[in-house]
Amino acid sequence: MTAPLPLVFDAPRRGMPPRHLADLDAEGRRAAMAELGLPKFRADQIARQYYGRLQADPAAMTDLPAAVRDTIAGALFPPLLTPVRHIACDSGETRKTLWRAGDGTLLESVLMRYPDRATLCISSQAGCGMACPFCATGQGGLNRNLSTAEIVDQVRAAAADLRDGAVPGGAGRLSNIVFMGMGEPLANYKRVVNAVRRITSAAPDGLGISQRNVVVSTVGLAPAIRKLADEGLSVTLAVSLHTPDDELRDTLVPVNNRWPVAEVLAAARYYADKTGRRISVEYALIRDINDHPWRADMLGAKLHKALGSRVHVNVIPLNPTPGSKWDASPKPVEREFVRRVEAQGVPCTVRDTRGQEIAAACGQLAAEG
Ligand code: SF4
Repeated sequence: MTAPLPLVFDAPRRGMPPRHLADLDAEGRRAAMAELGLPKFRADQIARQYYGRLQADPAAMTDLPAAVRDTIAGALFPPLLTPVRHIACDSGETRKTLWRAGDGTLLESVLMRYPDRATLCISSQAGCGMACPFCATGQGGLNRNLSTAEIVDQVRAAAADLRDGAVPGGAGRLSNIVFMGMGEPLANYKRVVNAVRRITSAAPDGLGISQRNVVVSTVGLAPAIRKLADEGLSVTLAVSLHTPDDELRDTLVPVNNRWPVAEVLAAARYYADKTGRRISVEYALIRDINDHPWRADMLGAKLHKALGSRVHVNVIPLNPTPGSKWDASPKPVEREFVRRVEAQGVPCTVRDTRGQEIAAACGQLAAEG
């Protein structure tokens, strides 16, 4: 029997912020109207302001009577996220935002602009309990899960800033979301799935971003991957594998002790079968740790066997954190790694290292505070 790891799935609302509009689905919003003594039609009106006009301040919802604005301000719009600071790099095309939640918790999101799209990397937890040794966030442990509204509001705020031209590069539209900020999304399962629904539903139920443009990442919580496959969503699943062998992965990604590589790949296969989506495999390439030619061969072979052509490997040059013994692999080693994976019939590319200066990769965010 495997000893249970201290993983918390859908822990109670301990430490959670008070209820916010974005925590509620359509039925919940109508119930909230009844509770506040407001007519049902106000539910859609308020949701259109939040999701359609990206307005989170009831005082600015001028199509509502003043008394209604006051009522909902207290009941549905508690202080959620306040920007502490924005940090820009890549000529301003990448912007990291540090947020403070109502209880003082810090979290981050990163907006990356490209010629054809704008991608927001969001956090699903404050801190992370997965304890990957090469990751700054992992060293601090899990602070708490984020609420659905705290996840959704990172997206709403970025969409509003882009629309309003508040980000260098002029006005634009937020098109892609990746759950690759702080935290293990599938360890905050219910709130993350609810957030995905709000982010991807059309107004007045959500922000209208295409499910195909949403990536949910995981270190490999196999049962949660299978559960996600059954949700009827068509988001991309990104599995942070980082090595194809259990011996090293037990150390690099400690949750591997619970769900080893074969189980993770079987769950990924189930996800691909159910959703028809190609699996993204993330591989942080670390000098002399997981960058050996034989590991590249094994990775390609195992992925090809488990997933056929429905997989793509993203090699991520490790973003070294100050004072860490972990470092990125030299470029020739990286090129050879990619060549060997591809030789096994598995497409493999080196991920754009946007945001390196501001430490933007899975788990390398808020540790710098
Ligand atoms: S690498 Fe990702 S999953 Fe691992 S500890 Fe860091 S944030 Fe958590």
